[in-house]
Amino acid sequence: MNIILMGPPGAGKGTQAELIKARFPIPHISTGDIFRDAVNQGSELGQEAQKYMSSGQLVPDEITTAIVKERITQADCEQGFLLDGFPRTTAQAQALDQSLTELGKKIDLAVNIDVPTELLIERLSGRISCQECKRVYNLNFNPPREQGKCDSCGSELVQRNDDRGETVAKRLEVYSQQTRPLLQYYEAQGVLFNIEGSRGSNQVFADIQEKLESL
Ligand SMILES: [Zn+2]
Repeated sequence: MNIILMGPPGAGKGTQAELIKARFPIPHISTGDIFRDAVNQGSELGQEAQKYMSSGQLVPDEITTAIVKERITQADCEQGFLLDGFPRTTAQAQALDQSLTELGKKIDLAVNIDVPTELLIERLSGRISCQECKRVYNLNFNPPREQGKCDSCGSELVQRNDDRGETVAKRLEVYSQQTRPLLQYYEAQGVLFNIEGSRGSNQVFADIQEKLESL
């Protein structure tokens, strides 16, 4: 089964990817990781991508799609794959579909973890972490025992600029604008599976598992 995993920052996509990977025999393919791998292995496509990245430019869709295609033809994807972080735009989705068709494959399900914006802001803007041991806390859900101090090592806890309220709201708006057409694209194909992600991660996973087992 060939799955795409979508969801805004803070929706718990990473957790669900881990749970899916543990339960089903398909690899979790995160675009960030395969980019790094392609660059590290010095493959032709990796070198191409590197040229853009090192000059601070976006890697063109053709290269990204080619890197993804190369990855999904590897042996561990025989039973399928869980694609995370790609596609991000309708153009990328079309390019992916074309590659899949060439490989005699198709997307079976596009899982979209849906969480109300207010809750995402609450989840994301409360994030603070330890400068020393990198442990992550959340002021709203998982605060440290002592304010501003790490439970594990006692070092100072800081908030990244990215995690401040107004920056978070802007990031979410950009995400939703970019993703809306993509959701419509998969809905039109009849493969979109919206899942209510404001619940606990085990409940969310139970629904995803049921759906995947029914494929
Ligand atoms: Zn610490």
